[in-house]
Amino acid sequence: MKLRKVTAASTVALVLALTATACGGDNKDDSSSSGSSGGSGGGKIKIGIKYDQPGLGLKKPDGSFAGFDVDVATYVAKQLGYDKDKIEFVETKSADRENALERGDVKFIAATYSINDKRKAKVDFAGPYLLAHQDLLLKTDSKISKAEDLNGKNLCSVTGSTSAQNIHDTIAPKANLKEVSSYSECIAGLQNGSVDAVTTDDSILAGFASQEQYKGKFKLAGLKLSNENYGIGVKKGDTATVDKINKALEKMVSDGSWQKAVEANFGPANYKNEPAPKIGVIVK
Ligand code: GLU
Repeated sequence: MKLRKVTAASTVALVLALTATACGGDNKDDSSSSGSSGGSGGGKIKIGIKYDQPGLGLKKPDGSFAGFDVDVATYVAKQLGYDKDKIEFVETKSADRENALERGDVKFIAATYSINDKRKAKVDFAGPYLLAHQDLLLKTDSKISKAEDLNGKNLCSVTGSTSAQNIHDTIAPKANLKEVSSYSECIAGLQNGSVDAVTTDDSILAGFASQEQYKGKFKLAGLKLSNENYGIGVKKGDTATVDKINKALEKMVSDGSWQKAVEANFGPANYKNEPAPKIGVIVK
């Protein structure tokens, strides 16, 4: 019977496909199939992202994920041989990122993760794939307009971020800096008046400011207080993965997918992003 023949042919195709997967496809990253390097077995890949940053990394109420980092991670994973349904996203908060990579909890991290020397001592980076700048998010009627205005004021940022470090080191050492575990907690503080300003990357702040519930309530200061070169973090020494990710990022820019992801994710927040960075070139 015709139907039978089709079924038999499909079965053969399926067996062949499964055999190919088991043997590792050409561009499949075999090392990530082991539990110690961010794979969970079964040809899956674990990727670290943020869960509470609209426009960048967001876990939606229906359990799906959205944002520029999510799109970059999904594109890169595909180039490494993992379709969307093979990705398992894992939350990596700012303070957890180096540890998550060192422990092998995830294969790579795309989570507004700035490349810097302190982090490079512990992890390796591919990229950069976006240039952002530290800024302040303020109530619309705030009188704060420059970094010096922050001294003596209540400021909120996240533990383990370059944003908190920069405030301590240079931007406003005399500010009363409250450090919490995620930016959404800071935003709640800004709304209820317990903090005068939230500081982190403008890309992140623009995403929060554009949320329906905050429309008209918050403004960005537009100060460009630092250069934040977003990289994709990988386990220290895993240069093969760094090379593959860099190739994927180059392709993402050259085939127009990077620009598409920028428009889809930053457009609604009216965030004026910098042009695509050159791989390996850090803007100091
Ligand atoms: N990009 C900065 C950092 O890597 C701030 C944003 C964040 O905490 O993820 O620390």
